[in-house]
Amino acid sequence: MPTPLIAGNWKMNGSRSLVESFGQALGDAALPSQLDVALMVPFPYLDAAARALSGSRATLGAQTLSDQASGAYTGEVSGEMLRELGASLVLVGHSERRTLFNEDDAAVLVRVQRALDVGLRPILCLGETLAERDAERSEAVVLGQLDAVLNGLEPDQRQQLVIAYEPVWAIGTGRTASPEQAQAMHAAIRRRLASHAEALAAATPLLYGGSMKADNAAELLAQPDIDGGLIGGASLKIDDFLAICQSA
Ligand code: PEP
Repeated sequence: MPTPLIAGNWKMNGSRSLVESFGQALGDAALPSQLDVALMVPFPYLDAAARALSGSRATLGAQTLSDQASGAYTGEVSGEMLRELGASLVLVGHSERRTLFNEDDAAVLVRVQRALDVGLRPILCLGETLAERDAERSEAVVLGQLDAVLNGLEPDQRQQLVIAYEPVWAIGTGRTASPEQAQAMHAAIRRRLASHAEALAAATPLLYGGSMKADNAAELLAQPDIDGGLIGGASLKIDDFLAICQSA
């Protein structure tokens, strides 16, 4: 079974002082022994977060990366730069990137490859919209997004993935998937991974994301195929984030 992972996605929120507070609190916290914790902070805070988290068990992640390795791409940030600043994880394919920044499956695959090229572990985000769920297309959409990446990678690269199922209708809406809905999709993802290799299915951490909070985390994390959580809003409040970590 994969080690549970609770990853906080700050999105375009936070501050230097919040980074310092999280470093202190995570350093002091008595976290469950079998738990990985990560914080995905905005680019400008990575350096400070690497220092602030160094006294804790939390690892550092970024929220996206360029599809290019280097060069004349004004405003972009490469995977190599993220590594240099201390990140070991990076979100790829978050629904906000897919919808607001037009990152389609091909763009997601390139970014996953860029991450792997420099030794960053990608957290690949998958999820259907409400219209797709209502049309009973959730599984087809999510597995399609997954296939677009799996089929573009070598077997050893697939083993580096973390996968986050994040129904778009549950992100930032306060409306979470029921434990049964989340479990059903996680089981489908696990089966698709198993069609490539049983060992891949057994070792890949599958996170749920979408309005996971202190009061609903335990029942989601108790599902057999939910190995952790990707937490947005609740990852900005240290008490809420620590409470979710304690539920894992
Ligand atoms: C996210 O953006 O990855 C997320 C899960 O957000 P929230 O927890 O706020 O729904």
